Amino acid sequence: MTRPFDGHTLSPETVAFLDGDMRLLIDGERVEGEAFHETRDPATGIVLARFHVGGKAQIDSAVAAARRAFEGPWGSMAAAERTAILQHLARVMEANATLLTELDVIDNGMPRFIAGLTTANCVEMVDYYAGAILRIEGTTTTPPRHVSAEAEALTYTLREPVGVVGQIVPWNVPLSTAILKLAPALAAGCTVVVKPSEETPLSLLALADMIGEAGFPAGVVNIVNGFGATAGQALAEHPDVDKVSFTGSTATGRRIVMAAMGNLKKVSLELGGKSPVIVMPDADLALAVPGVAMATFFLQGQNCMAGTRIFAHEDIYDALIKGLVQFASGMTLGHGLDPATMQGPLISEAHCGKVMAHIDAAKAAGARLVTGGEKLARPGNFVQPTIFTDCTPDMAVMREEIFGPVMAVQKVATTDLDELARLANDTPYGLSGSVWTRDMAAAHRLVKRVRSGHVSINCHGAVGTNIPFGGYGQSGWGREFGQEGLDGYLETKAVTARL
Ligand code: NDP
Repeated sequence: MTRPFDGHTLSPETVAFLDGDMRLLIDGERVEGEAFHETRDPATGIVLARFHVGGKAQIDSAVAAARRAFEGPWGSMAAAERTAILQHLARVMEANATLLTELDVIDNGMPRFIAGLTTANCVEMVDYYAGAILRIEGTTTTPPRHVSAEAEALTYTLREPVGVVGQIVPWNVPLSTAILKLAPALAAGCTVVVKPSEETPLSLLALADMIGEAGFPAGVVNIVNGFGATAGQALAEHPDVDKVSFTGSTATGRRIVMAAMGNLKKVSLELGGKSPVIVMPDADLALAVPGVAMATFFLQGQNCMAGTRIFAHEDIYDALIKGLVQFASGMTLGHGLDPATMQGPLISEAHCGKVMAHIDAAKAAGARLVTGGEKLARPGNFVQPTIFTDCTPDMAVMREEIFGPVMAVQKVATTDLDELARLANDTPYGLSGSVWTRDMAAAHRLVKRVRSGHVSINCHGAVGTNIPFGGYGQSGWGREFGQEGLDGYLETKAVTARL
């Protein structure tokens, strides 16, 4: 099938992939689901592919396969061999980087330069956790008094995999949000059932092929596309799943917690945010203007760590706004395959409607629209980079996660760090944030006061493979990335031996 991409072409491997058979991966086999669903290019609205979707029956088969693999070949495999298989996966992904990148561009809408970076980060992450396998270590400690009083004794700890893990991933960075869960889980020795978002199935269907090529035993990784309310819910409540790891909205996060109650499975959640960006009077505006703009507009604002609540000091307010408006109005919107594109489309018509409703509500509440605010009159779900000034803390535009290219700016008169922190912390969320100033002492003192899992100074959203990431408050439970990301898939067993 030929598909229009606003005049842009795809590599032959991506074209061939789109014409392939998009089945689920269960127990090492590509199997049919219970129905089909279509995925569309959000920049053009055209159908990219029809793919199989599974429901409870497919989740049951996938969990059973994952349990067999956990108790069988994966559980008994030597650590060095597990390392080699993960390293092999990294090489296969690297060899297929163009395919993985192009699939996230056309399925999600993200600009190609971002998709290229996230693919490279995914390869790095698989390598990072492959390298961590031989460093999974317990400790030795003093045996309990009642045992050592009677005999020589030894106490040590073992780190063991949590077991069968359900991973429910969103559409905003499809490959990356899956890999940052898969790689540490597999390194820990867990087996996995992944439920991608039905909005963006493609890169994980390509990954399913690569899982086979890398040499994982059957059932170690299962990928079941399906809807949240059916497949997702069945996975979250499954009695034979030991842990569920979820990235998505806070509302769905609550449903996951309720669903997990039956067998009290472990839960980790990476949820929403409304991250503060504090621009002090001495900020270097040459850095702050593009940095603050991209804190909001990166990934069309469909980004859990987006910095969308800007607290700008009155001394630099006018100059900052002028720079931000110039930056935002100069951003090139277009198809992600176009190398000039800085901002792509929103994921769907429905989501676009939600973002436009937020924009209308902000206008009605008295926020001042200084740039953007319109949906482009062209096919696809394009919303202009939008900036509201004169915002006050009670406005929905300052409080709610919009998940679109919408910035809200509040003028502040204070440089008192406690007062700035009080403004920044006036939110149920706590995922990210940034501080812009030349005064490093003030920056570090302010960072310490901000209740958030991740705060940057003179940059925003500085995430990395080795850097723990997660939320305070209603932004989530647990941490991903780095050593803490691996710890989330390990249990600790304490052993005492009377010798
Ligand atoms: P959801 O949180 O509903 O979806 C995320 C994932 O959860 C998807 O795979 C979805 O499946 C699945 N899911 C949905 N309902 C259930 C359920 N009852 N049980 C188990 N899994 C479920 O996000 P939306 O796509 O609806 O986006 C809504 C808002 O969420 C956005 O506007 C944004 O504010 C926020 N969001 C935050 C993200 C983050 O990175 N923190 C990522 C994505 C969204 P399916 O897609 O098939 O329904």
